[in-house]
Amino acid sequence: MLNIVLFGPPGAGKGTQAEFLIETFGLNHLSTGDLLRSEIAAGTQLGIEAQNYMEKGELVPDSVVIGMIKNKLALSNNTKGFIFDGFPRTVEQAKVLDNLLNENKTPISGMLNLEVEKQELICRLLSRGKISGRTDDQSQSIIENRINVYNEKTFPLIQYYSQQNKYYGINGMGVITEIAERLKEVVEKIDN
Ligand code: ADP
Repeated sequence: MLNIVLFGPPGAGKGTQAEFLIETFGLNHLSTGDLLRSEIAAGTQLGIEAQNYMEKGELVPDSVVIGMIKNKLALSNNTKGFIFDGFPRTVEQAKVLDNLLNENKTPISGMLNLEVEKQELICRLLSRGKISGRTDDQSQSIIENRINVYNEKTFPLIQYYSQQNKYYGINGMGVITEIAERLKEVVEKIDN
């Protein structure tokens, strides 16, 4: 199996590039952000709990996110592999994911980090907010909080995956198709 963690700060382009990788490599997309937003839209208890954190740009508690991912993994048999997008976001989440995947002998193949400058992230998120209506993309202070939370809680995962020799840094600045090409080259290398 080919299990890819697509990594990067908010606004790095994970969702956009995930679509392309799914098509090219026939993988399943698991985006915790999308899953949480569907829970909110459906008005579930999980969604109600998550919404308070998401609106402020804080992380949803590990226990909530991990429970959700466990369900999804259990329901997805017969897949070539997964693109994890927006997950893991803490070292605790990464450890749990490793344990779950090791039970099935299908470990993470690689972690691909989309590297983008902070000013560009803020610009991209504010323009996405105008189109998508996502409230967490409409305020500069919430966006900056998300980037700070990323630096504090999520950035340490770079070291976590580097220690397993699974880390790949990718330039996430520039034209979407060119970034997609850079990702494709790395995934092909990992897949061999
Ligand atoms: P982005 O990466 O652009 O900020 P996402 O759609 O991935 O957007 O996530 C939106 C919000 O959902 C996050 O700010 C956070 O509150 C919550 N969230 C998503 N994934 C996780 C996760 N793995 N752990 C905790 N919270 C999460």
